[in-house]
Amino acid sequence: MPDGLPPAPLPPGSTIGILGSGQLGRMLALAAARLGLRTHVYCTESGPAFDVATETSKGAFDDQAALARFAATVDVVTYEFENVAVATARHLASFVPVRPSAKALEVAQDRLAEKAFIAGLSIPVAPYRPVDGVPDLIAALAAFGAPAILKTRRFGYDGKGQVSLAPGGNAAAAWAEVGAQPSVLEQRVPFALELSALVVRGLAGEIAFYDCPVNTHENGILRRSVVPSGLPAADLARSREIAAAIADGLDYVGVLAVEMFHLGPDAPPAERLMVNEIAPRVHNSGHWTIDACAISQFENHIRGVAGWPLGSTERHSDAVMINLIGTEALEWQKLAADPGAALHLYGKREARPGRKMGHVTRLAAKSSPP
Ligand code: AMP
Repeated sequence: MPDGLPPAPLPPGSTIGILGSGQLGRMLALAAARLGLRTHVYCTESGPAFDVATETSKGAFDDQAALARFAATVDVVTYEFENVAVATARHLASFVPVRPSAKALEVAQDRLAEKAFIAGLSIPVAPYRPVDGVPDLIAALAAFGAPAILKTRRFGYDGKGQVSLAPGGNAAAAWAEVGAQPSVLEQRVPFALELSALVVRGLAGEIAFYDCPVNTHENGILRRSVVPSGLPAADLARSREIAAAIADGLDYVGVLAVEMFHLGPDAPPAERLMVNEIAPRVHNSGHWTIDACAISQFENHIRGVAGWPLGSTERHSDAVMINLIGTEALEWQKLAADPGAALHLYGKREARPGRKMGHVTRLAAKSSPP
């Protein structure tokens, strides 16, 4: 068993603790409610999840006493963001199961550990080098050349903490721009498209896959996810194989997203997919599963961490999910009046630029598997 417990499902009425109060926590709490499960959201500040959880607590993630009080009210703890400190997860795990485990956090929140872990499974990643100063950066650039991307090892998301380096770029300026902190230099990969594998692993190690969406980013932020991807069956099978190897390697429980680059049809089949990063949580590129699958990624994550049988991941419709970013959500009346749009708003009060305010999913009759 992943955490040494028998896979006895938590009965309805049990409480799922969720660390983090963002939109992912909100959609997890809504899915839990559908199964008759309660939720207790713990975060430093209120957010979209606070509006829908059964119970909420504000507290620091290093407040051991507050975390212990929280743990005493829940039957299992999960999280909706990967920057939960490993010490926080370990402290909570001394009281109550934490799923996915602290190991998944440890790997996913440090780009260097993440790349080493994935490469250690013989899964391709972009050529990379650790960078702890300007001399390292110059050496790494000499090793595999520009264009390249300097990324901080920690706390990067939605393209934050990243600097592009063109041939002849200024290494010292790039190092300063990432805040002179431990980083990784990655070769810029000339990918044909981006996709994500969405896998859910149950408490007894059983695995199910959602169809792989093709994802488009703008300014480092996800704009759109589309299923079916239109990719060859062999590539999709490989994406599942990669995701399963990572989930098994982490003894993972719940939904895991594996973001990948597709290098195009001319790349050798075994090297066509390269992993960019993993997210040990439900993922923005899986939001379409709420409307296009019987059981969404959110419900399946809850099922996994609660020890329930996994639900069907089958997709009944084609889907296009588009994020509503910043002021785009002010169009809500138009979108609400559009019969083809399934509108999801996260209840955020302030529409700051680059902020994910909601999303819209458009469905069409299922055209082709998968
Ligand atoms: P990340 O924060 O690592 O997910 O990066 C955000 C986005 O930047 C990715 O979704 C890609 O579009 C782009 N990107 C990141 N790393 C690379 C790379 N090594 N080569 C090309 N594009 C990249």
